[in-house]
Amino acid sequence: MMYKTVIGLEIHAQLKTETKAFCSCRADVFDLEPNTVICPVCTGQPGTLPVLNERVVEFAVMAGIAMNCTINRRSVFDRKNYFYPDLPKGYQITQYFFPIAENGYLYLVYGEEKRSIRIRRIHIEEDAGKMVHQGTESITGSSGSHLDLNRCGVPLIEIVTEPDLKSPVEARIFMELLRDTLRALGVCSGDMEKGALRCDANISMVDESGRSSNRVEIKNINSFKFVEKALEFEQERISKALASGVDVAKETRSWNFSSKETYSMRSKEEENDYRYFPEPDLPELIISDDLIERIERSLPELPWEKVERFMEQYSLPGYDASVLASDSEISSYFEEIAQATGKPKESSNWIMGEVMRLMNDRQLSLEEVKVSPENFKELFDLIEQGKISNKIAKDIFPVIVENGKSPTQLVREKGLQQIDDDTVIEDAVRKAMNDNPAAVQQFRDGKEGVLGYFVGAVMKATKGKANPSKANEIARRLLRD
Ligand code: ZN
Ligand code: MN
Repeated sequence: MMYKTVIGLEIHAQLKTETKAFCSCRADVFDLEPNTVICPVCTGQPGTLPVLNERVVEFAVMAGIAMNCTINRRSVFDRKNYFYPDLPKGYQITQYFFPIAENGYLYLVYGEEKRSIRIRRIHIEEDAGKMVHQGTESITGSSGSHLDLNRCGVPLIEIVTEPDLKSPVEARIFMELLRDTLRALGVCSGDMEKGALRCDANISMVDESGRSSNRVEIKNINSFKFVEKALEFEQERISKALASGVDVAKETRSWNFSSKETYSMRSKEEENDYRYFPEPDLPELIISDDLIERIERSLPELPWEKVERFMEQYSLPGYDASVLASDSEISSYFEEIAQATGKPKESSNWIMGEVMRLMNDRQLSLEEVKVSPENFKELFDLIEQGKISNKIAKDIFPVIVENGKSPTQLVREKGLQQIDDDTVIEDAVRKAMNDNPAAVQQFRDGKEGVLGYFVGAVMKATKGKANPSKANEIARRLLRD
């Protein structure tokens, strides 16, 4: 039996505002001393009232427009009631009945396929605090728990997709697309590892007759890799269950990243368990056409627009364009270099190759690996004029990164100029021929492939400095003689 996978995501994105959603406490509380960024409003003291942060509304509208949603001119805040120690008010302010935005979509590009993934809704809500359990990861088995209310009232948007994703890998790619979009807008840092972007995933499987399994929800996935891994695990678990004739339980599960499996948290609660009702302390949210127009006009270039522009303006292949466009720092660095050197494809190769590799290998930020566009131009010129080989250029690149020296100066200091002198190359070829007469014979018997051996010998003898095309040409000539 073949099963189709059906996945929908609910994503919480923390908004990069100065202050919290309904009070004037600062909003960026990551890693701060517990309970130092709280006030009577965000801790729900009697007699306090919430005041909506205007930036939160603007950011939510920006996200809504970027995701092709209808922006609702009227939306309403509601209370979602439940008890948990990290929620001192006993309810979360959210938008349940009338969200700020709905009915949007984003295009997911995966291989040859480009499909629209529908966005059901985007709503504004506040975050809850955090519990820190002694000695354990979870409350179970802990000897005691601490409360940190710093995060209470931090503004979020919750983005809910329709169940349009067909595989775990698509879910991961969608999350990356969403992160790139929110980052380009400047409304969310997109850092999953810091909890600024969190994902709950719903998965069910449908058999050939169209019968669907129960839906399983995986909560609080905090990395792009785990989105894919956790869903792969569930896909496997659910299809095995279905194949053996039992359905899976409708429940909420959690991903354990050390054991690489999901485990059951609780049977799924119903929406009506939360007794949603309109928040009496906040008026309806009315959005003017003016605000929408102003935001539409000021919207920055979005990742997919950048991909298209890069392909057109710089004649880059789609793959290069999408890698470079996914990060705004990388993409503007690329543009600086492409413009300074006039060689966009080479610039792209160097950034996607050497620059990104150094960032990755040495855990450096782009700022730390930034070779100036002028130095790149020099480096490209040296290669083009045949003064150094590509290999030498790559060898000295980390040195340029480290000390910022000009490539010309570095090449001169280290004596790395390419050897163009025919006699030096001829000597090296002749020596290799003397060393290996059998290979010479093979070449003369028609085994052209042996040529590589002689070119290699020349490169070795000259420590990689011989001009490779010259070495090739001279070796061929001398072998023929
Ligand atoms: Zn506060
Ligand atoms: Mn939520």
